[in-house]
Amino acid sequence: MKVITPVKNLFMVGPNYAKRLEKLEIKTIENLLYHFPFRYLDYSLISPIARIQAGETLTIIGKIISIKNEYTKGGKKIQRAQVADNSGNLEITWFNQPFLIRTLKINQVYRFSGQINWFGRKIVMNSPEYEMVGGNQIHTGRLVPIYHETSKVSSKWLRSRIAWLLEKAKIKVKDFLPEVIKKKHHLLEINDALGKIHFPKSNQEIEEARQRFAFEELFLLQIKTLFRKKDWQNKKLASAFKIDQKKINKFIKSLPFKLTNAQQKVVKEIINDLKKEKPMNRLLEGDVGSGKTVVAAIAIYFTWLNQNQSFFMAPTEILAKQHFQTLKEFLEPFGLKIKLITGSIKNKKIDEEIDIFIGTHALLHRQIDTKRVGLIIIDEQHRFGVEQRSQLLEKGSSELISPHLLTMTATPIPRSIALTLYGDLDLSVIDELPQGRQKVKTWVVPQQKRANAYQWIKDKIKDTKEQCFLVCPLIEESETLQTAKAATVEYEKLSKKVFPDLKLGLLHGRMKAKEKDDVIGKFREGKLDILVATPVVEVGIDIPQATIMVIEAADRFGLSQLHQLRGRVGRSTKESYCLLFSEINYGKPFERIKSLERINIGIKLAELDLKLRGPGEIYGASQHGFFKLKVASFADIKMIKETRKVAEEIIDKIDKYSLLQAKLKRDKIEKIKPN
Ligand code: ADP
Ligand code: MG
Repeated sequence: MKVITPVKNLFMVGPNYAKRLEKLEIKTIENLLYHFPFRYLDYSLISPIARIQAGETLTIIGKIISIKNEYTKGGKKIQRAQVADNSGNLEITWFNQPFLIRTLKINQVYRFSGQINWFGRKIVMNSPEYEMVGGNQIHTGRLVPIYHETSKVSSKWLRSRIAWLLEKAKIKVKDFLPEVIKKKHHLLEINDALGKIHFPKSNQEIEEARQRFAFEELFLLQIKTLFRKKDWQNKKLASAFKIDQKKINKFIKSLPFKLTNAQQKVVKEIINDLKKEKPMNRLLEGDVGSGKTVVAAIAIYFTWLNQNQSFFMAPTEILAKQHFQTLKEFLEPFGLKIKLITGSIKNKKIDEEIDIFIGTHALLHRQIDTKRVGLIIIDEQHRFGVEQRSQLLEKGSSELISPHLLTMTATPIPRSIALTLYGDLDLSVIDELPQGRQKVKTWVVPQQKRANAYQWIKDKIKDTKEQCFLVCPLIEESETLQTAKAATVEYEKLSKKVFPDLKLGLLHGRMKAKEKDDVIGKFREGKLDILVATPVVEVGIDIPQATIMVIEAADRFGLSQLHQLRGRVGRSTKESYCLLFSEINYGKPFERIKSLERINIGIKLAELDLKLRGPGEIYGASQHGFFKLKVASFADIKMIKETRKVAEEIIDKIDKYSLLQAKLKRDKIEKIKPN
């Protein structure tokens, strides 16, 4: 029996169970052994019957005195047994397991593990696990593993199969972690660790085993990232760029504002990359409103000076159009030709010479006749799947030739994630906002203060003529018909009942492009007071004269998401406000959104959410490639650094470790070999 043996060949499994197990992503013996418990029931306390108390979870060892089936009034079968040890008697009941009266033998001694409850004035044990004394001990009298289950695959079944593998079949897995690493980092040997994670004798053993598997999980992840990095380093640039600093300075001088120090710093980093012989692979991270677009414009200009074309992809049509306008303003005076490509612009043949193609994912599907793509920029990169990113990259490259790649995000990346998942990218951070920006005043508004808040908004708009965004509740991660409907209903209600004297507009992803443009246009020109929008539509929109942001059901959002939404206002020197309507007004979820009143730094909020809700929540379901850790934790910076170091040390001599290589192959972690 090998780790790659299919589970269906296993004793007592067969094709039916094999099919069900696929739902748990278990196909091979290795998968089954790596299906780790997510918690344990502690049945290790063994007590004489006379001493047990209601509420306790424990094990008794007793002889069956009697057992029989009884019927309830509702026609259900109850199995009632009397069990005795030296100290006393106990009644045990099960429900709807009539076969038990044949399985459990009178006068035989069993271990029973479960909870003790009151039944009227009596103490009883309900539906305990049982095992004959002298036989296996996997379900009772110890720490018992509980697994993620699926239909018709219970924890008990999984436990039995895994116990059979480990104890009856005595499977020995070959350890792919090199001895020296295990020694140095005090890690258990794999078979030892497997035994302890499934059938621990103590909490200490669970901890030791988890430590080993967490280490190996991060280590493999680091190797994967380093492979990606190496692949990238093997790529060549289509043509090396030359710098004309004078022209670049002149361009920067032409901008309507002075670059912040942080912007200047990242521009330098990017230009440095662009001068190199190797293609850049850089992630530009900057809080909302920190001015990433203009940095992109400078990179594009540099590319153009070198007679190369640029691609610029944004997640929504509105955003693509906005970037199109901005870049036109900055770059057209210098003679660059820009083309907008979105789903709603029909396929016209492009026969002019274009320098910048800007658009949505439509860029991926459109036939574009490119000559020399030198730079690819992806805005709000977390909005795209890994697939889409590499598709765009392929547009301008072949397997070994690549343009420069700049990805941008306002979602701050906690350091631990930057060191693992994004460890192959170079990172630039804009850690400063343009001067004169004020902190957005933020309040969480509980239900009972909603009417007051509406009144405040009315007065504010009437007094100042400033504008307001109103974001509808988050229903699903991606914009669906349901989301659009909910926004429409909200819009109707607000325009008729709440703000009849104000001018409202509606914006959702299901509207036609022309309708969207009209609404955005009107809002931009100040012809609308309030823009009611769905959560998905908003990313990156830049309308500096809007000063109020209202978010419905704020508790459903991640802190980073809320911070991004809040970043739509506070984009000028005017005082801005953010009102977070909350469906709950107590407890931890409430405290979580309350933190926005105090904290206005994206990275701090992201790290807080990472702690409170885990990484999946921060990045949202829209991040297709997002990786969920099984055992390890992104909070364990120490182990992340250690595994990084170990992976770096081993990566160049990986050919010497055949077991590790085989493991990487099984896990589909492969290096693309240059030919
Ligand atoms: P984000 O980083 O969120 O994409 P944008 O690039 O949309 O931010 O910039 C936000 C706003 O700040 C825009 O209106 C932009 O013109 C302005 N801006 C950018 N850089 C500066 C600067 N150095 N000084 C003043 N305003 C700036
Ligand atoms: Mg932006």
